[in-house]
Amino acid sequence: MSNSYNPHEEIMHIVDKAAQLLGLEERDYTQLKYPERELKVSVPVRMDDGSIKVFEGYRVQHSGVRGPYKGGIRYHQNVDMDEVKALAAAMTFKCAVVDIPYGGGKGGITVDATKLSKGELERLTRKYTTLLFPMVGPHIDIPAPDVNTNEEVMAWFMDTYSMVNGQLTLSVVTGKPIALGGSLGRREATGRGVLIATREIAKKVGLDLKDATVAVQGAGNVGGTTALLLHREGCRIIAISDVSGAIYNENGLDIEDVVRFLRAERGRLLKDYDAPGLVRISNEELLQLKVDILVPAALENAIHEKNASSIGARVIVEAANGPTTTAADEILQKKGVTIVPDILANAGGVVVSYFEWLQNLQSVKWEEEEINRKLENIMVKAFHDVWSMAEKHGTSLRMGAFMLALERIVAAIKLRGITF
Ligand code: NAD
Repeated sequence: MSNSYNPHEEIMHIVDKAAQLLGLEERDYTQLKYPERELKVSVPVRMDDGSIKVFEGYRVQHSGVRGPYKGGIRYHQNVDMDEVKALAAAMTFKCAVVDIPYGGGKGGITVDATKLSKGELERLTRKYTTLLFPMVGPHIDIPAPDVNTNEEVMAWFMDTYSMVNGQLTLSVVTGKPIALGGSLGRREATGRGVLIATREIAKKVGLDLKDATVAVQGAGNVGGTTALLLHREGCRIIAISDVSGAIYNENGLDIEDVVRFLRAERGRLLKDYDAPGLVRISNEELLQLKVDILVPAALENAIHEKNASSIGARVIVEAANGPTTTAADEILQKKGVTIVPDILANAGGVVVSYFEWLQNLQSVKWEEEEINRKLENIMVKAFHDVWSMAEKHGTSLRMGAFMLALERIVAAIKLRGITF
C-alpha cells in the first residue's frame, strides 16, 4: 500500500475518466469534485470510569443534486475526513446507478467501537446526533448503518433526533429495528444485492453458481449475509475472514454454523470459532486463494498495487466500499479478472433504505416478499444498464457504472441550472 493513497482522489480520478469518455466538459461536472458541505464535530463522552473522552466525528454531504443526502455512519479508528469524503461521493454515484432519488452523504466517528461498553456507545451516538441535528432530517440528510454501527445505534440516533425535534421522526434514519420503523429485508439487503449482482455476472461470464468456490473477506452485516445467501444459492464458501484472521476449508465451510456463532453475541470473532477440518489462514492468504468468486466485504484498500497480481479469483464482486485501489484495478483488468464495482454490487442496502424511508413517510408497512421483488428489479436493471454502458464504450464495469451515474447526475445539474 502506498502512503500517498487518498480515497477521495481515487474516486475523482475515475470521475474524470468517466467524464472524458462521455465527452463532458469540465464545467458540466466540476462541482462534483467538492463536497457541498463538510462538518467536523468534537463529541465529549462520559466513560464508565467517570473520565471524559472527546472523539472526532464527521458528516459530509457530497451532492444533493438528485435528492436528500443519503449514507451510512461508520465507527472505526481509521475514520478521517478524506475517508468520509470519499465514501460520501461514492454514495452520490451509487444512488444514481440504481436511480433512486437521493444524493450522497456519509458520517463517521474516529473510535475503536469494540473497546467501548454498550453504555459508552449509546452516549457517543446520542451526543453525535445532537451535534449533527442542524444538518440532518427526513428531507435533508438521512443516515444509515455502516461499519460497526447497527440497528441499535440507528434506534438511538432516531430517538435522540426525535427528542430534540419534539416529535417522533422515524424517517430521519434507516436501518432501524423492525419494531421501531425498520423495514423487513433491510438487514439482509446489502448481502441480497450482492447475491443478485453475483448471479447476473455469473450468467454473463458463463459461471455456474452451483458448486462455484467463493472466498469472503469480512464477516459482518454484509460479508456474513452475502456468504449465507451465496451458500444457499449452491456456492461453496471455502474461506471467510474478519479482523482476527481467516478460516478455510477446501470442501466448503458450514457457513450457517459460522454465522450463527458470530451473531450469538456482540464482539464474537472467528479466531474463537472451531470446526472439524478447519484451517486458519491470514487475510492476505484468503485474497490469494484460487476461487471462482472473491467477495471483499470488509474495508477499503484491501486489494492494492502490492497484492493485486497474486489475486487468485476469476470474478471479484465488491461488497465493501472501495476495496480495490485504482492501481490494483488496472493490474486485475490486465489479468482478465472481472470486477463488479462497489457502487453497483453493494447498492442493495441503500435501495432497501429508500424503501424503509418511503414506508416511514407514508406510515405503511410492506411485505418482505414485495421488498425483495422490488430490490431484485432495481438491481437487475442497474446491472444491465451498467453492462450496456460498459459494452458500448468498450470499458470496464466500474467505468460503465461511473459513466451511467455521471450521465444521470449531470442531467440533473443541467436541468436545475446550477451551472451558470
Ligand atoms: P460490519 O462492521 O458489520 O463488518 C465489518 C467486517 O469486516 C467485520 O467482520 C470485521 O471484523 C471485518 N474487518 C474489519 N477489518 C478487517 C480487516 N482488516 N481484514 C478483514 N476483515 C476485517 O460492517 P458492514 O456493514 O458489513 O460493512 C462492510 C463493508 O460494506 C464496508 O466497506 C461498508 O462501507 C460496506 N457497505 C455496508 C453497507 C451496509 O448496509 N451495512 C452497505 C453498503 C456497503
